[in-house]
Amino acid sequence: MKPAPFDYVRPQSVAEASAALAAEGGAKLIAGGQSLGPMLNLRLVQPRLLVDVAGLDALHALEATADALRIGAGITAANIEDQRIDTSAVPLLQKVAAGIAYRAVRNRGTMGGSLAHADPAADWVNLLPALDARYELADAKGTRTVPAADFMTAAFETVLAPDEVLQTIIVPKLSRSARHGYSKISRKTGKFAMAIGIVVSDPDRNVFRALIGATHGKPILIPDAREIFSPAMTLDETRAGALLSEHGVAEPAARQLHLTALRRAAAEAFQT
Ligand SMILES: Cc1cc2nc3c(=O)[nH]c(=O)nc-3n(C[C@H](O)[C@H](O)[C@H](O)COP(=O)(O)OP(=O)(O)OC[C@H]3O[C@@H](n4cnc5c(N)ncnc54)[C@H](O)[C@@H]3O)c2cc1C
Repeated sequence: MKPAPFDYVRPQSVAEASAALAAEGGAKLIAGGQSLGPMLNLRLVQPRLLVDVAGLDALHALEATADALRIGAGITAANIEDQRIDTSAVPLLQKVAAGIAYRAVRNRGTMGGSLAHADPAADWVNLLPALDARYELADAKGTRTVPAADFMTAAFETVLAPDEVLQTIIVPKLSRSARHGYSKISRKTGKFAMAIGIVVSDPDRNVFRALIGATHGKPILIPDAREIFSPAMTLDETRAGALLSEHGVAEPAARQLHLTALRRAAAEAFQT
């Protein structure tokens, strides 16, 4: 199947991209096309206009401030995997980038495209709230910043307004003593996750967060992971199970996968 006909523009700036979205109801941004391409081909979406943001410099910048990395939303997973931009202040970024899909997808798929698509099983969608990241959203008038934890509202739904562009992902730098684990359970290497467990402990910054991801909705963020881990870092299955129940994860096999992913993430963080 082929896409329904559409017009195509390449704006010169983020403000121009936003103006193009505002001017044409049903217009859509395209970055790497790795999610949108198949949806166009299957005619799951039929935008009248595609606004191509892949070439915008503003979406390809990486800036390191004293306490954060500011990552342009157009940066691809392969750029991070190969460290063509230096994200070593947050080592999980490179590890996670390298485990997304396979190389052809990582060459084109951008962090911003993945976040805006908001597939609950996607890696960036789960990692960035666990890192307490923030997203800078831009329209023709200016920018606003939202915490990653508030960006996705449900599966494939976000707070992005129809004319907003996700411009920058702001990720707090970790201290040298920080420990972290990321466990993705999937049927085959490179496939979407069936369960994701994340643990980030950074005592110097008073951070101990965990996240249960690849559920059917928003990731389950646990801002204070002492809620589910004992001081010896043993997972309290009753409490973690209660959280899964609260979020509607009832199927026993799925619950076991999520608990296993969390246990593995904690082991990676604290036993290495
Ligand atoms: C075979 C295959 C396997 C995959 N496996 C995995 C996997 O294991 N893990 C994983 O995490 N992902 C996986 N993916 C998904 C892939 O990572 C995403 O498709 C990709 O990152 C999306 O980025 P993109 O730049 O291609 O977005 P696009 O497809 O161009 O756009 C996706 C959506 O985001 C919007 N958008 C794009 N850029 C912006 C922006 N800057 N601001 C606002 N909205 C924007 C578009 O309008 C569209 O709605 C897989 C994809 C394929 C095809």
